[in-house]
Amino acid sequence: MSTRPPRDGFFRDVNRHFVQAARHSTVDDDVLNQVRACNAVYRMRFPVRQDDGRIQVVEAYRAEHSHHRLPTKGGIRYDANVTQDEVMALAALMTYKCALVDVPFGGAKGGVRVDPRSASPGFLERVTRRYTHELLRKRFIGPDVDVPAPDVGTGEREMGWIADTFRNLDGDSLNGLACVTGKPVSMHGIPGRTEATGQGVAMALEQCLGAAEDAAAVGLTPGVAGKRVVVHGLGKVGANAARALAERGAVIVGVSVSDGGLYAPDGLDVDAALAHRRESGSILGLAGAHDLPSPAAALEQDCDILVPAALEHEISEENVGRIRAPVIAEGANGPIDAKADAILRDAGKLVVPDIYANAGGVIVSYFEWVKNLSHISFERMTRRYQQLSNQSLVGILERLSGESGPAEALARLTRPPDEIDFVRTALENTLAIAYEQIREARLARALPDLRTAAYVLAIERVAEAYAEAGIFP
Ligand code: GLU
Repeated sequence: MSTRPPRDGFFRDVNRHFVQAARHSTVDDDVLNQVRACNAVYRMRFPVRQDDGRIQVVEAYRAEHSHHRLPTKGGIRYDANVTQDEVMALAALMTYKCALVDVPFGGAKGGVRVDPRSASPGFLERVTRRYTHELLRKRFIGPDVDVPAPDVGTGEREMGWIADTFRNLDGDSLNGLACVTGKPVSMHGIPGRTEATGQGVAMALEQCLGAAEDAAAVGLTPGVAGKRVVVHGLGKVGANAARALAERGAVIVGVSVSDGGLYAPDGLDVDAALAHRRESGSILGLAGAHDLPSPAAALEQDCDILVPAALEHEISEENVGRIRAPVIAEGANGPIDAKADAILRDAGKLVVPDIYANAGGVIVSYFEWVKNLSHISFERMTRRYQQLSNQSLVGILERLSGESGPAEALARLTRPPDEIDFVRTALENTLAIAYEQIREARLARALPDLRTAAYVLAIERVAEAYAEAGIFP
């Protein structure tokens, strides 16, 4: 069973960030009250048969934080200790995240009190199908009302069960497949969704350290290449962030998982560390790395960039004074509590806030949802056309110059683009545009940090959407 204690106070912390930013916004108080309120929470208990024949009563939630845009959107967390407060906080973060990166959704989040590590696949399938059924009964799921996705403890497999259950119950409606994102590609998912959140963390860091003066403000040279990185938590987000950062030339000097942590000043290979864990049963004892005394010790190691990618509130008043990294990118949702956040700000650290740093997942979920609604893949209409145009351009250049280009560049130019190429470039572009806006707001409005700037933009956009809908004349 998960040993994580319940962490109440998460929604209060998100609201602290909200209040701190709202002071700098142009939005009226009564509208602010609506923007921050969690609109609806469905709390349910349902019986599910265990493998030994006994019945377990499972508690679950779905919070829809904001209906300023529909559908609402956000993952489903499977964790034995997930609480209503946590789900409400996570749903609020989804509202601000979607508004910030301009994907047209309200925010939501689900939670189911099961331990995915000890439960059997059969039990998890029965829980997932019954949860979907319960959501549908109250219209808390559907392509135009509320669209779940993976979160901690869930992945493609669960999303496949949800899509299948929904379509069976909903009479195979035309757009039924768009009821959930993060599905397997074989079930109309989109390539690149699984890695999207982690890759987005690396892309977000490239943006935040791109300008020489921004990097210099925290004593670093621009860019991610050559930076020493510690990743706390090697789940889907952390492992893919580490891979994407290593591809960009960063050196992963530390990692941690639930059973321990490693530090290697000369760098380590994340896949080798994970393979070693699978073979030996523990991440500890990897050749070339030192064992750390605890997973949390990874947070305190010497590095340029720290990526907390486990759960919320891992960095609190208790350990914040020992954080050495000048840059912290929130791969997880809410890994720094509000008090620790203020201390890091006063210490001059650069915190890349969750609603920007980990938005890659929901951005690619948006692409999947659009693809499902349009019933066509992104490359189908353009792939061959792009290949032909590139081939003719290469032909013209070769005729004019009388020479043929380097083989590798030619192969890249004349290869038809795949759906994953569109997904990656559109993800990167979306994050680049959002960062430009955050940076500009921070400078133009003299905001104290990136989180405040990100929240101000998000709050104003949600308020604007309410006004457009005629709710606040
Ligand atoms: N659970 C992810 C998040 O926290 C993704 C949500 C989605 O794709 O809808 O952002």
